Amino acid sequence: MSQNATIKILDEQLCNQIAAGEVVERPASVVKEMVENSLDAGADDILIELAAGGRKLIRVSDNGCGMNRQDVFLALERHATSKITQAEDLFALRSLGFRGEALASVASVSRFRLRSCAGEDGLGQEILVEAGQVRKAQEVGMARGTLIEARDLFFNQPARRKFLRTEQTELGHCADIVSKLALACPQVSFRLRHENRTLLELRREKGLAERVAALLGRQVLEDMQQVTAMDEQTGLRLSGLVGQPTLSRSTTAHLYVFINGRSIRDRVVQHAVLDGYRHLLMKGRYPVVVLFLDLPPAQVDVNVHPTKHEVRFRQQREVHDFIAAALRRHLQPATWVQSPRGGSPDPEKTPQGRPVHPEREPETAVHDGLQPQYVADSGRFPLTLPPVATPLPAARLLPDSGVFPSPHEGSFFANLRYLGQYHNSYLLCQDGEDLMLIDQHAAHERIGFEKLKSDFARGAVPRQSLLFPEMLELDFRSIQALDAHLDELAALGFEIEPFGGKSYVLKAVPALLAGVSCAPLLVDIALELEQQGQSSVLQDQLDEVLIMMACHGVIRANQALDPREVRALLEKLDQVDFRGNCPHGRPVSQRLTLREVERMFRR
Ligand code: ADP
Ligand code: MG
Repeated sequence: MSQNATIKILDEQLCNQIAAGEVVERPASVVKEMVENSLDAGADDILIELAAGGRKLIRVSDNGCGMNRQDVFLALERHATSKITQAEDLFALRSLGFRGEALASVASVSRFRLRSCAGEDGLGQEILVEAGQVRKAQEVGMARGTLIEARDLFFNQPARRKFLRTEQTELGHCADIVSKLALACPQVSFRLRHENRTLLELRREKGLAERVAALLGRQVLEDMQQVTAMDEQTGLRLSGLVGQPTLSRSTTAHLYVFINGRSIRDRVVQHAVLDGYRHLLMKGRYPVVVLFLDLPPAQVDVNVHPTKHEVRFRQQREVHDFIAAALRRHLQPATWVQSPRGGSPDPEKTPQGRPVHPEREPETAVHDGLQPQYVADSGRFPLTLPPVATPLPAARLLPDSGVFPSPHEGSFFANLRYLGQYHNSYLLCQDGEDLMLIDQHAAHERIGFEKLKSDFARGAVPRQSLLFPEMLELDFRSIQALDAHLDELAALGFEIEPFGGKSYVLKAVPALLAGVSCAPLLVDIALELEQQGQSSVLQDQLDEVLIMMACHGVIRANQALDPREVRALLEKLDQVDFRGNCPHGRPVSQRLTLREVERMFRR
């Protein structure tokens, strides 16, 4: 056994690299740290320039307070910060940064340049660092502010560099971070450039609403409503914008939550938000919200995660219930649409409430076919029904021209004896001695799905040109996703053209979806494509996308069908490659045997 100590104190350089392992995961982490520093420095104009998705170059320049000559050198040391001096400060934070690690970490894993000027003399200090080693320091002429550059991230750590994803994916993460920081600071101008393209150009705005419009689109803003809530006792405050239930998404990507000004993904808060929307959204749908929760700094610990993406609350339950209750109050149905039978929104409950699109009401909330108890039974809120809820002529639902390539052998469904329709939703049929219940909506969905699938396979999805092209506004990431798949979307029957900026114009839709507003569907498809990553082809997600389309085209509210329409539906079901379930996995039909019925009556 050796008598020498085997434990060693690691050198500074290695410590920085280890710290970098926690703080710097990818280019977006560098963007986050640098932009947060700019905001802490009081900048109101921030330029972010990237090359190769940030893998080659990340440069952040600001017009903040800058650093003097001494500070430029100190800033690069680990645990060097101007933002706190004692432990108590951690619970009275006013700045985004406080760990004093970011610059040292980034400099240890890149070719790094820091240039800063604090005075009005037009003279700044510049240092060049490579993998943590200072290479050069000099005076440079510059205006007040700071420029920080990180090139070739992880160039000295090939193993970590391999973890970086494609340029598009990394760029997407960077844009995401900038979007979040920009939502939290509407008064600051942000520009994001990638190589020679400007991806985001956000002017200084008066407030959150204008920033949301610039970032997520005017259409989205129109479907949002302000919320504010405050609890004197606990000091909790909530403010921001919440989307009406029809403005839903297939992922949580558009749940923007800020806690004391920081973008945070917190389980408790997310749960509370969804709780606030309970019964208003269909399963698997998520709202669009931009919410700011402010609480006394002593009530929340932000120092639980190196990148500060998470927090810990002292009174978790209290925070949860406060948020959920505040949202529930604001999301009263009356806030969105005036009650069809005379009631009007209660001004007490909706201080900032404005009825959103009251003109849509006839399509969504009330129509002959839609009975309130249907809605109550299914636990759905009427407004979640998209405009397709309007009963349409059955001819469109069950196109007689629809030919299925692989007709099913037998004709099981066509041979059933039709007894009647129950609750305008279920078909009661008799098969021998048994009772068959068929969910007409699930059946429609299944038929639509199969038809789309076979049309697509034959390369012949019938499309219909729109008399009035639909405009859609997408956020940056969705645009990326749609752009990458325009050809495949065309094969699905969507004709989409860029219309400048964030806008696209939809000129044709799959014939199956004629008469249905497709803009929300395309947003969902974009999210789906984006989630799967740019590299995968649409083919991999085809079923998912076809399911979305089929589901979108189907009448979801209950609808009376005449016996002729029922016949047509049953015949179509026979032609489907039928595995018993609608594409969502819900059963299309159920059987009750005579025995089971008899047992119910104790016979
Ligand atoms: P932290 O932000 O936690 O203090 P950093 O490593 O990110 O640690 O930054 C170290 C210090 O460098 C900061 O405390 C700040 O004084 C200074 N600094 C960094 N970026 C800027 C900037 N853009 N403008 C002015 N000062 C900056
Ligand atoms: Mg910092």
